[in-house]
Amino acid sequence: MASKKEQNGPDKRQFSTRLLHFGAEIDEATGASSVPIYQASTFHHHSLDNPPEFDYTRSGNPTRQALEDYIALLEGGARGFSFSSGMAAISTTFMLLSAGDHIICTEDVYGGTYRLLTSILPRMNIETTFVDMTDLEQVKAALKPNTKAVFLETPSNPTLKITDIGAVCEWAKSHDLLTMLDNTFMTPYHQRPIEHGVDIVLHSATKFLGGHSDLLAGLAVVANDSLGQRLKQLQNGMGTVLGVYDSWLLMRGMKTLQARMEASERSARKLAEWLVQEPGIEQVYYPGLLNHPGREIHEKQSLGYGAVVSFDVGSGERARQVLDKVTIPLVAVSLGAVESILSYPAMMSHAAMPREVRLERGIGDGLLRYSVGLEHIDDIISDLKQALR
Ligand SMILES: *Cc1c(COP(=O)(O)O)cnc(C)c1O
Repeated sequence: MASKKEQNGPDKRQFSTRLLHFGAEIDEATGASSVPIYQASTFHHHSLDNPPEFDYTRSGNPTRQALEDYIALLEGGARGFSFSSGMAAISTTFMLLSAGDHIICTEDVYGGTYRLLTSILPRMNIETTFVDMTDLEQVKAALKPNTKAVFLETPSNPTLKITDIGAVCEWAKSHDLLTMLDNTFMTPYHQRPIEHGVDIVLHSATKFLGGHSDLLAGLAVVANDSLGQRLKQLQNGMGTVLGVYDSWLLMRGMKTLQARMEASERSARKLAEWLVQEPGIEQVYYPGLLNHPGREIHEKQSLGYGAVVSFDVGSGERARQVLDKVTIPLVAVSLGAVESILSYPAMMSHAAMPREVRLERGIGDGLLRYSVGLEHIDDIISDLKQALR
């Protein structure tokens, strides 16, 4: 069979084909139909003069290696890395910086990243300025002599604000800044940031990549080999690696990424369109809606709109009523699974944010975030309809 390595020149195959035929899908030794789980912490040295390729699982393991090559192929990067969670991927990557460095970060960054940047990294004397990254002028104005990195997230959570990836990266490059982008909401099926100039793509693979709410994992993909060597040293040195079994389980989930994303996105579009005409819904946030701010920029850099729809039902009381009455979605933190998940940012992901700051960012008491799963869309809508009445 023709693996990626045997091909000459750029990989011209479609994304869905690459998802299934990623190079390690057939075990070379036995022909087994899935990557073997090398549940071993260490590897025997048959000869001291000729050490084995893998010698200790923190430093390298064939099952984890298959996953890391897989995500690098999907994102179009030089090298991939897997971590015990999305936050382990993000925090390990920030260790590329040193004491005295400064980061420019999008203001509506994921809550865990916000906590890392505001309460942990400052103790290492790494400081961050948060800006509205939809406005390039604000990004430029935040530059300091010690700025070393820019952290992007687009569409952002939960109001799905759009940042122009290419414009931010072009400016960042002209100032020798490292660019990192959290691609959790889009996945490489919808958005491949390295093609737009990003240096490091990050994922909470706990969400769409894993896809089944049964796994915690993080991934990073770097655009070039020198960054790859530096991140490899950090992953090994900090020991934030993903376990062997979870590496296998994540690959199992990733094979159906396109089928899941396509179906969920189709339903998310219908849900957003239904919500727009539903009385009593004050605001609907979905990049696929014609009037969504930044829609044109999103369409320039992405191949789809994703499966997350946020909407404001007007008040905290009404939001609680909906959360009480829905019968289809899991009412929970998290997103990106086969089952729908309904979150209440004000009391879940953004509970730690002061109310005024939260309201300023458009995260009102009535805002709900629906991650659309694989249930039939007619059932999703009629369930929400009865919960709203
Ligand atoms: C969930 C999430 C994370 C953190 O990932 P964990 O796997 O929970 O550590 C980071 N970024 C985004 C956008 C997320 O949704």
